[in-house]
Amino acid sequence: MKRTALVDLHLHLDGSLDLVWAYKESLKNGNIPPETTFEEYYDIVYRTKYKNREDGFRKFELMCNVLQTRENLFYAAYDLVRRLDEKGMIYAEIRFATQQHCKEGLTQKEALQAVIDGAAKGMEDFPDVKVGIINCLMHKGPDALYNWRENEETVRVSAELLGKGLVGLDLAGYENNGDFRLYGPLIEMAHEYGIPCTVHAGEMGIGEHITEALKWKPERIGHGIDCIQDERIIEELRRIQIPLEVCVSSNVGHNLTYAAHPVRTMINRGLCVTLNTDNMTFGRTDMAREHAMMRRIGVSFGQLRKCTFNAINAAFCSNELKKELTAKAIRIMSGKE
Ligand SMILES: [Zn+2]
Repeated sequence: MKRTALVDLHLHLDGSLDLVWAYKESLKNGNIPPETTFEEYYDIVYRTKYKNREDGFRKFELMCNVLQTRENLFYAAYDLVRRLDEKGMIYAEIRFATQQHCKEGLTQKEALQAVIDGAAKGMEDFPDVKVGIINCLMHKGPDALYNWRENEETVRVSAELLGKGLVGLDLAGYENNGDFRLYGPLIEMAHEYGIPCTVHAGEMGIGEHITEALKWKPERIGHGIDCIQDERIIEELRRIQIPLEVCVSSNVGHNLTYAAHPVRTMINRGLCVTLNTDNMTFGRTDMAREHAMMRRIGVSFGQLRKCTFNAINAAFCSNELKKELTAKAIRIMSGKE
């Protein structure tokens, strides 16, 4: 069958858990009151109206709470690889922030190793899909010093496991919190260790963050959709062809519909667009759905094909694997597999 939805470069582990498993673990660990029903739990995760920003981040906290042991991190990564394989994906990069998983005594390195091991076991059992792990620096604020030491540790443990399952580093969190510019030195530090980087920038309404992030010379940009605010940013992204990890369903919400999302303009203007899910569980989506939604708003099969090849070329993996993935993608897209 011809398919174009084969690669996902921007996939958060905590936002992509099996919800029934997460609920059971939450109950077992006492992270939620024992009388909480699955419906109530479901409601917290999928609620769209929040009292405040902290309230909006509650679902991430809930998920992170069940990912505080080696066993659960291992299982979550393993199970995600299993589901990616089930969906016919050929490559994905799974990201999470090790510093969010040290509440019960794990070190960042142990948390990273657990996810790498779970993913490795997943690839052993489901060899048709390949995955790489990205560790995330966290943009927590109110200023960059708030968790500077944890972020430095994130870079260090990532450097230690680079090439051993870890493929890159990301800057995630709430990008509008505090001064975005202050995070640059962490990306520079990662580059000194030779770690490829991506940065969440231009997702939450401030296009200038993209311009700022570009100064740090990241290998990719997460989201980048606020480029639409400024013709100069669009032109710069087109000129340098930096891969953009666009996550359409994740952005669609209160004020934004699929039809009004900038993704079509970004593709038509010749930017290097890749399509991704961001959070499979929170977004109730997968790559097949993302591509189907794109077809519905007028993105052509050829353009989707191009997005997939952009993603393969932008992947933080070896050139050898890229060649393999390209050949496999061509076979699948022409209906030969
Ligand atoms: Zn993200």
